[in-house]
Amino acid sequence: MSAPLLLRIAVPVPLRRSFDYLPPVDLPPAEITCLQPGTLVEIPFGNRQLIGVLLAVVSDSEIVSTKLKAATRLVDPSPAFSAEVQELVVWAANYYQCAMGEALSTALPALLRQGAPLVQPAEPHYQLTHEGKGLPEGALRRAPKQAAVITLLQQCSSLSQSEMRLNAVTPAILKSLQEKGLIRQGTPAPQPEDKARPILREQPMVATAEQQQALDQIATEGFQVSLLDGTTGSGKTEIYLQTIEKVLEKGLQALVLVPEIGLTPQTISRFTRRFAVPVVALHSGLSDRERLDAWLDARSGKARIVIGTRSAVFTPLATPGIIIIDEEHDASFKQQDGFRYSARDIAVMRASKLQIPLLLGSATPSLETLGNAMNGRYQHLRLTQRAGNAQAPTIHLVDLCGKTLHEGFARETLDAIQEQIHSGNQVLVFLNRRGFAPALQCHDCGWLANCNHCDARMTLHHHPKHLHCHHCGHQRAVLRRCPQCQGQQLQPLGQGTERSEIALQSCFPDTRVIRIDRDSTRRKGAMENLLDEIQRGDPCILIGTQMLAKGHHFPNVTLVVILDADAGLFSTDFRGPERMGQLLLQVAGRAGRAEKPGQVIMQSHHTDHPLVQTLMYEGYHALATLILQERQITQMPPFRHLALLRAESKRPELASAFLQLAREMAENHTGMSPAIEFLGPLPALMEKRGDRYRYLLQFSSQQRKPLQHLLATLALQLEQHALGKRVRWSLDVDPCEM
Ligand code: ADP
Ligand code: ZN
Ligand code: ZN
Repeated sequence: MSAPLLLRIAVPVPLRRSFDYLPPVDLPPAEITCLQPGTLVEIPFGNRQLIGVLLAVVSDSEIVSTKLKAATRLVDPSPAFSAEVQELVVWAANYYQCAMGEALSTALPALLRQGAPLVQPAEPHYQLTHEGKGLPEGALRRAPKQAAVITLLQQCSSLSQSEMRLNAVTPAILKSLQEKGLIRQGTPAPQPEDKARPILREQPMVATAEQQQALDQIATEGFQVSLLDGTTGSGKTEIYLQTIEKVLEKGLQALVLVPEIGLTPQTISRFTRRFAVPVVALHSGLSDRERLDAWLDARSGKARIVIGTRSAVFTPLATPGIIIIDEEHDASFKQQDGFRYSARDIAVMRASKLQIPLLLGSATPSLETLGNAMNGRYQHLRLTQRAGNAQAPTIHLVDLCGKTLHEGFARETLDAIQEQIHSGNQVLVFLNRRGFAPALQCHDCGWLANCNHCDARMTLHHHPKHLHCHHCGHQRAVLRRCPQCQGQQLQPLGQGTERSEIALQSCFPDTRVIRIDRDSTRRKGAMENLLDEIQRGDPCILIGTQMLAKGHHFPNVTLVVILDADAGLFSTDFRGPERMGQLLLQVAGRAGRAEKPGQVIMQSHHTDHPLVQTLMYEGYHALATLILQERQITQMPPFRHLALLRAESKRPELASAFLQLAREMAENHTGMSPAIEFLGPLPALMEKRGDRYRYLLQFSSQQRKPLQHLLATLALQLEQHALGKRVRWSLDVDPCEM
């Protein structure tokens, strides 16, 4: 008798190995041999039931089969992962040193991780009734949102609930129309042949000469990476749209990745306004069911355009045609815990395996990407002019040294704000610190309110009044007396958005001041309401954090004020200056996006700092070149590859002993890789955070291969070592923060 067939399964646990199971008892042998990798299997693991991913059907195991447990059931007989996506995730798990089962699980929609089957319940569709079809023009003049739905259904004849949602149609609007007897729920109209369906809903813009040149060079088949390097408002999105159109014409799908805070209704509607094909957006506002449906639509090929944030890079696609990454420099493309992958770098691998083009767009490309464009590995496409009628903003530096400030504002800054408000325009004030003040200090003795759990100051908040640690979430009441000297003069130190909001409101009592930060937009729908108000265009002052910096289109903002340009300048993280340059330019890019010319004011105490000077007078590319030269001299990425082994524990000596052990183990291996250098164990930038002491060990190498090899060996050894079970540790390959 031949050996029984076994299922080799990746289980979602942080162990770098697979597990073998006997097939479910009720599964006929003929079906076992037909099982494909990527099939989801429910299995007993310890005393839990987990959903694992089938890696292979095998006939021998290191463990005798009588000791093996049987899998409980197949979640679904067809595989959840295509071979392509499964290989991609496995590659990424190896590259980022994550346990394969965890990585595969991360790449699945939540419902599949919980064992839901791979089928979609029928979704309600909406169609015009006889009355709806015969509705005279202008009949719904008093209800423009309802009228828009009628127009939409005249164009598309039938739309699903999720398509309605993408077009910003709420259930309430649908209900009113149903009650009026103008629309009804029904089965979807039979779809005409794909080819015959129109792709476009609105005509593309006539490309500018620069746009046309870029469009001509972007391939629509075969592997090619292009950097679309264009200032804010230069028409990059229009290029994405026109490139996607070509891909759709071939009957293929487009995958578009955007930063976490970039997937706004505004962004989505640019796609749904342009294209008549099904679009799905994978954003955090979806329920698990909606997310799974969108994922299944991408997988079946029904969705022709898939827009999503980081994890969407793993979306299965039936007919992949192109991948586009907007704002490719954005830090949110790198996951900062668990499976620490970079969606941008994975997209390069995916596009190359699929032999399709990848388009990376940014006004402030990352140094990695810029380096690759400069050395010719990526095609470098430049857009230097703003599209349409918009002009590039003028930038003024305001030297704060020695000046009397009013709550952080220089007189000339306030005058400039006054002037714009007076002319009926909007002003955006950028300050990347929420709360009232970043610290509370005793004026008598200098004592500062620190977090008891972190090496950090507590931020003072006024709404509601309390002290808050932004690193561990710890909160406490505001003290009345200084615990050190009993003094009563406790004073806020520095500026946060709440404080600037109050200051602005007192300077401009008749002007609406809108604060946008994590606190003011916490309630569901709050952000949309504020954005709607801004879009209406009345004069107002916006004060906010980096939530305002990206993605949004504020046509009436004519002045952008950067209250504290120095914040990133002296960061200890080697990426600080790059980040600072990117953020400042992204914010500045919000000025003068439409007909009106824009102006930017940057307040700084270090106007003569070379980085500030270069950024101001020569622009981002000069700054990037300068930083790249520095990185070459100091041998930092992209000139050397970095990896970090992080360890944290409530007992500092355990974490550092663990890293010391790791370093010794690594040095024992470096016979095979002498090119690897070690640094550490070192304390992390914030040594204590949330009561845990954090240390790191840095590896660097000129070549990826030996480093990869070392990390893989080391991870397995550490996983099995007793000390590895007593500290919380993780590997971070190509880290984005220290
Ligand atoms: P980016 O993505 O680079 O910030 P967008 O594609 O959003 O730029 O374009 C900025 C503005 O210019 C938008 O309002 C857009 O409608 C407009 N625009 C883009 N391309 C053209 C064009 N070829 N002709 C006229 N207007 C354009
Ligand atoms: Zn004191
Ligand atoms: Zn804290």
